Amino acid sequence: MTTDIPKNLSQDPSINPVHDIVDGQTTDCCIVGGGPAGAVLALLLARQGISVMLLEAHKDFDRDFRGDTIHPSVMEIMEELGLSKALLELSHAKMRQISIQTPQDTVTFADFSCISIHPTLTY
Ligand SMILES: Cc1cc2nc3c(=O)[nH]c(=O)nc-3n(C[C@H](O)[C@H](O)[C@H](O)COP(=O)(O)OP(=O)(O)OC[C@H]3O[C@@H](n4cnc5c(N)ncnc54)[C@H](O)[C@@H]3O)c2cc1C
Repeated sequence: MTTDIPKNLSQDPSINPVHDIVDGQTTDCCIVGGGPAGAVLALLLARQGISVMLLEAHKDFDRDFRGDTIHPSVMEIMEELGLSKALLELSHAKMRQISIQTPQDTVTFADFSCISIHPTLTY
C-alpha cells in the first residue's frame, strides 16, 4: 500500500492555510493568547516599559465560562499584582463553606474558613 505524502508538508495548504496579511505592526513582544497567563504576562511586561502586543482569538467571553471561582491563592497573586482592590469592587459573592441540606440535617463538606490568606487581604 502506498500513501501520497507531500514532499514538503509546510507547503500543503490543507495543513498550513495561506492567509493574506492585512496589518503589520512592530512590537518588542508578541503574546499569543489572552487567557490569564497571557494577560498577566502582558501586564507585567508593559509595567516594565516593554511594548507588548497581546493577540486573542476570541472577540468575547461567549463560551464555556471559566473563573467562576477565584481561590485564595489567586487572590494572593491579584494582591501582589496590585489588582485585588479593583477585583473585589466587582460584583461577587463570598463562599466560606459548601453545605447541603438533607431532610435531617445540614451537612458541610467543604470549609474554607481555615485557609490562611495574605495578611493585607481583608475579604
Ligand atoms: C470549564 C472550565 C472552568 C474553569 N473554572 C475555573 C474557575 O472557576 N476558577 C479557576 O481559577 N480556574 C478555572 N479553570 C481553569 C482556568 O480556566 C485555567 O487555569 C486558565 O484559564 C489557564 O489560563 P491560560 O492563560 O494558561 O490558558 P487559557 O485560559 O486557555 O487561555 C489561552 C487563550 O489563548 C487563546 N488562543 C489559543 N490559541 C490562539 C491563537 N492561535 N491565536 C490567538 N489566541 C489563541 C485562547 O482563545 C484563550 O483565550 C477552569 C477551566 C475550565 C476548562
